[in-house]
Amino acid sequence: MKIKLAQEDIQSSLIRKIERVSGEVLKMCYQCGNCSGGCPVSYDMEITPSQVMRFLQLGRVEEVANANSMWLCVGCLQCYSRCPKGVSVAAVLEAMRQMTLRKGTDHDRIKDIPFPFLKKAPQQAIVCGFRKFVS
Ligand code: SF4
Ligand code: SF4
Repeated sequence: MKIKLAQEDIQSSLIRKIERVSGEVLKMCYQCGNCSGGCPVSYDMEITPSQVMRFLQLGRVEEVANANSMWLCVGCLQCYSRCPKGVSVAAVLEAMRQMTLRKGTDHDRIKDIPFPFLKKAPQQAIVCGFRKFVS
């Protein structure tokens, strides 16, 4: 029982941190699904934008943290513009990405990127990619 309580404490402090970093109130989402409907990459997300909100409302932070959603989000803000409640899933995913990178966990390892790709890719794309995927 003690372990369960401790786990719940960790989850709720993570939820509070996500809200603080993103500036969003998770319970504002009423699950209309508009964000997922407009998201250009939701078809490839393991957890779609509206599901991200629901999972977090239920305290299922780890499942969202382990999904590819925050790494696939391109920050287009389509979800925000379509949300009738003014919620930005983009900000929530960005907060989770920042929290992961701040722990020193890289999503991409620079040395694994093939040199021919680095040589050809536009500099701006490389810098943006490093900012998004590397701590
Ligand atoms: S900002 Fe991210 S989550 Fe929102 S619609 Fe664009 S890609 Fe999807
Ligand atoms: S559009 Fe807004 S209210 Fe609707 S599911 Fe997405 S975040 Fe929730």
